Parts: sequence; structure tokens; C-alpha cells
Amino acid sequence: MSSCLRLSSSSSSARMLFRRTTFSTSTQQTRLFHLRTLNTPRLNNPSTILPFTTAPTRLRATSTAVPLVLSRQFSYTLSVLATPDDLKASPLAPLDYAAIEQKWLKRWKENKTVEAQAAAVKAASAKELTADEEPDKFYILSMFPYPSGILHMGHVRVYAISDALARARRMMGFDVVHPMGWDAFGLPAENAAIERSIHPNEWTVKNIAVMKGQMENILADFDWDRELRTCSPEYYRWTQYLFLKLHEAGLAYQKEAVVNWDPVDETVLANEQVDSEGKSWRSGAVVEKRKLRQWFFKITEYAEDLLQDLDRLQHWPERVKQMQRNWIGKSKGAEFDFKVNSSGSTEDIQVFTSRPDTVFGVQFLAVSVEHPILNSVPASHQHQLDEFKESLKKMTSSETEPGPEGVPTGLMADHPFLPGTKIPVYAVNYVVSDYGTGAVMGVPGHDERDYAFAKTQGIDVKYVVTPEPTEGSKAAVDGGALTARGVLMGNNGEFSGLTSEAAAEAIVKKADGLGFGREKTSFRIRDWLLSRQRYWGAPIPMIHCQGCGPVPVPAEDLPVVLPMDVSFTGRGGSPLKQIDDWVKCSCPKCGGSAQRDTDTMDTFVDSSWYFLRFLDPHNTKMPFSHAKATTGMPVDVYIGGIEHAILHLLYSRFLSKFAWKTGLYGRGPEAEDKTGKEPGRGEPFKVLLTQGMVQGRTFKDPVTGAFLKPEEVDLSDPANPIQKSTGLTPNQSYEKMSKSKFNGVDPEDMIASHGADATRLHVLYKAPPSEELEWDEQSIVGMQRFLAKVWKVVGNATQAAPAAEYFEPSIETMNKDERELWRTLNHTIKELTTSFQSTYAFNTSIAFLIKLTNQLSAVTPASSASSTTTTSQPASKKAKKVQAEVSPELYQHTAEALVKMLSPLAPAFGEECWETLQSRSSSTITTPGTTPSVFSEAWPSFHEAALKEDKIVCGIQVNGKSRFNIEYDVSELPSDKAGQEAFLRNLVYKHEKAQKWLLDDKGVVRDVKKMIVIKGGKLVSFVL
Ligand SMILES: [Zn+2]
Repeated sequence: MSSCLRLSSSSSSARMLFRRTTFSTSTQQTRLFHLRTLNTPRLNNPSTILPFTTAPTRLRATSTAVPLVLSRQFSYTLSVLATPDDLKASPLAPLDYAAIEQKWLKRWKENKTVEAQAAAVKAASAKELTADEEPDKFYILSMFPYPSGILHMGHVRVYAISDALARARRMMGFDVVHPMGWDAFGLPAENAAIERSIHPNEWTVKNIAVMKGQMENILADFDWDRELRTCSPEYYRWTQYLFLKLHEAGLAYQKEAVVNWDPVDETVLANEQVDSEGKSWRSGAVVEKRKLRQWFFKITEYAEDLLQDLDRLQHWPERVKQMQRNWIGKSKGAEFDFKVNSSGSTEDIQVFTSRPDTVFGVQFLAVSVEHPILNSVPASHQHQLDEFKESLKKMTSSETEPGPEGVPTGLMADHPFLPGTKIPVYAVNYVVSDYGTGAVMGVPGHDERDYAFAKTQGIDVKYVVTPEPTEGSKAAVDGGALTARGVLMGNNGEFSGLTSEAAAEAIVKKADGLGFGREKTSFRIRDWLLSRQRYWGAPIPMIHCQGCGPVPVPAEDLPVVLPMDVSFTGRGGSPLKQIDDWVKCSCPKCGGSAQRDTDTMDTFVDSSWYFLRFLDPHNTKMPFSHAKATTGMPVDVYIGGIEHAILHLLYSRFLSKFAWKTGLYGRGPEAEDKTGKEPGRGEPFKVLLTQGMVQGRTFKDPVTGAFLKPEEVDLSDPANPIQKSTGLTPNQSYEKMSKSKFNGVDPEDMIASHGADATRLHVLYKAPPSEELEWDEQSIVGMQRFLAKVWKVVGNATQAAPAAEYFEPSIETMNKDERELWRTLNHTIKELTTSFQSTYAFNTSIAFLIKLTNQLSAVTPASSASSTTTTSQPASKKAKKVQAEVSPELYQHTAEALVKMLSPLAPAFGEECWETLQSRSSSTITTPGTTPSVFSEAWPSFHEAALKEDKIVCGIQVNGKSRFNIEYDVSELPSDKAGQEAFLRNLVYKHEKAQKWLLDDKGVVRDVKKMIVIKGGKLVSFVL
């Protein structure tokens, strides 16, 4: 190891020193080495530079700027990629992608054992590592899948991204957590049980095995020792534990609620599972209303925190944050009390409004059919009310959302601001009981729904606010609801003439003073309904006792195991209800006979805390240890589909914040703020990367519009598809892949025909992660050509003359081609480092790698190691393409860096290249099969100085206008001001365009009043 720290301190010019070989045999040891290097004080001599390969790159992700949108601009690069001739010219054997992938999958598995041994060595020598030498953790997580048994292209995309990130971060010296598991509870397994008579557990386990194999085939390197499945008792025991914690904190409660009932699946649906047409998201059945006693989580208690802390999420897409803001839906307004006189007694109806400025326009009150005031309805109206309630239950045939409907209740309220004014109370279908107060004030003049309802009741609309103060009288004409804020009209008493904003404030103040109103903030978000009348989920750990009511199952009795011996009829609600042995139990409080709760939890509960469990997946005492979760959280990069932008992320934030607030993890707000922990406050995800959809090429019959199957289209000319049966050009588009559109692509077919490495590269190259990806199989060939070209470069590097053990690039002695290659290499390293750390613009990264490969292909390593200048080769008679030569050391160094950077994206191919480079290099003594993995190498670092341009393009201005450019070699520019002026003047006057702008007819310089050199020689301004 000490040889790696051999530093050059003698030279006055900056020298760079690279050891060409690897220095350890396992990832673990390499990581230890990184740590020591990092903590080794640098020598005082400023000219000393640590060798690149040993200086760990620890740039932090400081921004997540939107990746450069360059998705479709690089196709030109492909055309200059390898030709068949290039491939023939490779000194290595032709590529067999399948064989390479199989070889490395096997090797990686074997090396896991080696790594485990190294980890044991590390643990034994743990005292050598002090706490602050712990490698920085980096937690990369792709949303875990539902085990459907089918991996689709969307999965390939998300795992290709997370795997590339994980591999690169490991090379950068981070202690990476990259787990995978299964969101394994849920309806489809139960439906499979009903349809195919297979137990949900069996179905799930089979699917997991299949998908695991598919993930392996795309070369995804997950931490399988952290694998979890939410349907195993070891996991849901802790889901139940968290339920009990929430219950203890008063955040899990039961109440009667009108629920969405899916008559086909026979289950309660959350509002978000009902589409805009009132149909079930899964079965498509029209949803009915039913009343059941349900379990809720009080997420509304956290509404303000969930809203405010969105501002801490600097690295989340703004779109996602806005969707969450809208869902939480905070609105400021007021609450007013309206007195209702019914049969002698006086009761209040409280209403919430976001528009207190329209209170003088109240013409009725609208209450939900559940509102308690309806107990006081006079007998004359009872029958009509009952009929209305009944009609709401049967409201199942309607295809679209019903309009506002309601009936008068016979109750009248007093307008608090207009003594003597009586207002009718209606029971309506558009106010729900569990939202706000279950009552709203009806202002038809300024609210569209109230207006629509008023029309059904024949109410003459009253206007009290005009958006156009000068046309106040016009607004009095019935022209629909005027919803804009404006100025209060003359019918608002003492508030007339005020703006809406000023009036709202004054009205609330007065109401507050008189005791019938107050300021109030309202949220759109509702408590989280988590009860499911289904089998395949985590049982709710509650027991119902006649005497004691609902009693929590004691924590030590967890898990409440889901019984396995059940029958599935698909009808009649949850199978759990039918299992007497299971349902009957004794009350933990009084010991009397009691019954288990037969509801199971919404699967969103399982997936709202799995990221915490991944940090400590085998803990049998707690859901996760405080220490492990505190160190491991937050997830540094979370990758998944935008379709989870609202519910999954909101629920996860809620449970993570709850765990943090109750001290299950975290150091508390003060300690966190001190250390600048980001994002803090129990926020679970630091960077959120929402990947776009993968779309398939879709063909439609131009006449009928029917989707065409692939075999119905002649694609012999891919650019001009033809419908075989008609000879017509079909309509073409890119659409979400689906069976009914015949546009799906099976990842396994892709991998079988093109290899996993090329498939991964293609997925990453076609579009930036957040954009939609238009799948096009034809262009995958471009990626194979790219890999073939890299293979040829690797071959050239191994053929080069024996290279010195150390590569010491010296810009002073490099020739022009070497300097250009050196600069491109450093640019590429810089780009890829940024990409892997903050922008995730993998499409751009691959374009840079292609460029570097092309440049390496355009030069050859010089045949003699001593050659560092361009040797003009004697022109052979055959006049073959004469390639510029670069030093073999630089060629090899560049090829190695190229392979290191390509490896996270195309891992098996990268390993093969690395092994080839190492085993054939004379300076490395390795036996085949023992070369350390490329992933135990350190990520290359770039050198700022090397990024400087050789050539300067200098703009020439004459009298303030740009006229022409000159070009010169930066090394020729003198360092002093007078020298620069003389040098540039000479160049300018010799330029052909100088004639027109600076010289007279005789070629004599015109009278130059002033010549100014700007920007270090990049701009020269002449004043004549
Ligand atoms: Zn009891």
C-alpha cells in the first residue's frame, strides 16, 4: 500500500503520477485504503498532487439541477462509430455478450463470499477505524415492486438507473446501501387465488423467484442480504407494531364513515382508488356508498408539517411538490355560526368558508345528510329527507358524477349579519360529513356549485361582490357565479366599498368580537382510511371486547399472524371473518371472550416505512435500531414513477415523520439543525428522481383506427412502415406499453437478442431519466457498435509496448494529439462525475464516453515507449490511413479510465474489458480469474488544469463591432502585456480580413487610436 502514496515532491512543475495497477484484492480492503488516504495529511509542498487513482472522489451532491435535455441529439455520434472493418481489426476475440454476462454473473456470486470474508477481517480490525473514519453512507433506493411475476421495460429503466448509481458511488468510496424487496401484499394475489385456486402466498413466492431471476439478468446488483417482503410475519409484525404506536399516540382511530364500496371486489376503496367517473380503479365497477366502521390514521394532524417541510426538499421535482401542496390543500378562511331555531330549541350550524367577504350573499345553508342538525327536522319534512337519503345509497347506475342535489329540511337559520333574515337549510349530496364541519354556506352569486344548486331550487341569485367596481349595477343581472374577488357592492352594510381582502378581514374581526365567527384554516387532505375487508394484508392488531371496546393486542403478542388455511370464494367479504378459531380470542384487558378485528391494512401502510426496515432488516427486537436508522436516513436518492407522486410519498413522509417525532430514530431537531442535516425533520427522501414512462412504437390502421399487431406491419424499411393487408402507411405513435395496443416489449427478449449491457446502455442513452422514453429496438445496434469499438480500444491498449509502471503525464512534453486526448479524458471524467453525483444525465454521460472512444480510436499507441512526440510515419505505398500516435502510457491510462467510467452503466462488459486490460498488461502480474473487480477500483478524478484549451479563438472588434476571428496556440501567447499586444497585432494584420477593416488600399495600417486586449487574449478591440 505504501507504494501508492509515493508522492513526487521534487519537481517544481505540477507532476501527476498514476499507478496503473490495482492494489488490493477485495472491495473491502480497497475501501479501507481510501479511508486512510483521505485521512493522511497532505504534504506541505503545494506542487505535490496525490495520485489520481488513490485520491477518493468525495464530491457531494450539492444540486440536482434538471438533467440537460439532450436526449435526441446524439444519434449523429453513432454514425461515426465502429464499422465492420473496425471490428475485424480488433486484436481480441469477437464479442459474445451472452457468454460475458454469464461469466461475470457467476464471478460476482463467488466474490460475494470473498467480500464477506473481507468484511470479517474488517470487523476484526475495527479498532483501527475510529468513528470519524467511517466511510460516508449513501442510500440508493428504487421503489420496490409488486411481485406480479413480470418485469417490464419500466422496471429495467428504474433498476438500470439505480444500479449504475450504486456501482459508481461504491467506486467513489461511499458505503452504499442498495436494497431490494417486495411490496407483496395486495389484491392481485387474492384475485389469483380466486381465479386460479392457488394460495396468495404460493403465487407471491413464485412470482418473487421469477422476478429475482429477471433482475439478475439485467445485471442489477442489489444487497440481497437486506431483502424483505411485506407479506412475511417478520416484516408485518413491525407494521402492526407501528399501528399500535400510532394508536397509542391517538393517531389511529375508528369511526363510522361512508365508504366507497366496490361491489365486484367486495372491498372498501380509498377515494384515490375511485376514478373521475366513480368507478373502481381495479375492477372498473361503479362504486356504491356504504357506511362501515373503519380504521383511520390521523394524517391531518401532520398536515401543516407535511406542507411546510416541502420547502426543505430542495432536490425534489417542483411538479411533485406542487401536487403534494394541492393534495394537502391548505386554505385560510373563517368559520361562522348560524343559529337554527327548531321546535323551541336553538342550535348552531358551523360553516367553514374560504370567502368570508361573501357572507352577505348567503342565501341558504347546505349540510351533509349525516349532519346532527337533521335530528331536529320537523315532521313535515322527515319523509322527503328519508327518501333523499335512500336515493343517495342507490346512486350506483349513474355513469358520471352527479350534479348537486338536495331537499329542504324545513329548518331555518338566522343570518348573523342581517338580523331578521331567515335562511333555509338544505340537506345535500355535495357536502360530506367527515370534511370540515359537514356544512357550508350557500352563496350562489359567487360559488359555482352553490349557483348550480340554487338553480335546481329556483332561488333568485343575489350578488354582493363585483369584480368590476365601475360596472357594479351590471353584476346584479343573473349571469352565473362571479368567483373572482373584487369590491363589495352597496348591499354589504358597513363593509360596502371595501375590497374583498379588506372586507374579509373586517368581517371576521367583527364576527369574532360578537362571538359568532373566527379565523380558521382548513385543509383539503382527509384522514387516511386504511381498513380493507380483504384477506391478503397485515391483520389490524386490535381486539374487540363487549366490555372494554377496542383493545390493542399487546406488543409482545405480535405478530397477529395471518392464518394460511383459508378458502377463497371471492364473494362475501373477507375470508378472515369465516375462520372462527382465529376470530375468537380473549380480551387482553379483562380476559373475557372477544373477537379479533377482521380487517387488514391498506398495502400503502406496508410501503410507507420499508425504507427504514431496509437499514436493519433482521432486527427481531424492534422495527429497526435507533442507531442504524439515524445513520442511514434519509434515503439519498429515491427513484420511482411519477404516479407515486402523491399518495405513496405523502404516506411515507407521514410515517417517517411520526417515527422521527416519537424518537424511533433521529437526534432531534436541534442536533440536526446544528449539523446541517438535509433535509431533516424526519423527511425520508433527500433526492427524488421520478423516471418517465417507457413508451412503445404503436401502429394503427389509418382507416379504422384499430391497433395493429407487429406481424401486420411490414418493417423492412423501418422509416416507412407499411400495413401488409392494405399497403397503406399506418398511423404511428409512441404510447404507454400495453397488451391491447400490441406495443409491448419484453425485456427478456431484448436481453436475449442484444445483451443486458447494450439494453441498459440503450435505455439510459435514449432519454434523460425524468423524460418519457420512446423505445426503438433498431437503434440498440448503435450501442453494440459502441461496445465493439471500446473492445477494439482495449485490444489496442493491451498490444501496446510495455509501459512503465507509473504514468506521469506532463503537458509540457505532450504532443498535440496527446494533449487533445488528455483534455477529452479529463472533460469526460468531469462530466460523468457530475452526472453520477447530481444531474443524473446518463444520456449525456454516454455521449461523452462515445466521444472519448472515438478519439482513442483515431490514435494508436506508439510502438516505442520512449516516443512522446508525433512521429511522422513514412508514407507506405499502400497509403493506409495514417493514425496519429500517442504514448502507450497515455493510451493505456485513458483506456483504463474509459472502462472504469463505462462499467457502472454496462457492468459485465466493463469487467471483461478491465480483466483484459489487467491480465495482458506487462506491469500487472495476475493470473486469469484473479483480477480484482473493476468495481473495487477508485473512480477516476479529473484535473482542472487539463481542461484548458490548447487553441484560443480570439474575436476581433473594430470600433465596437465584431468583425472576424483569429486562432492561435495558447502556448505562444507571451505573458506580459506589451508582448501580448505585439504578438496579437502581428497575427491580426496578417489575417486576410484585416485588409477590409484595418488596412488601407496599399496594405498600410490605418491610424489605430487604441488597441485593447481583453479576457486574457480572447478578445481584441481596435479603435480607429
Ligand atoms: Zn375486555
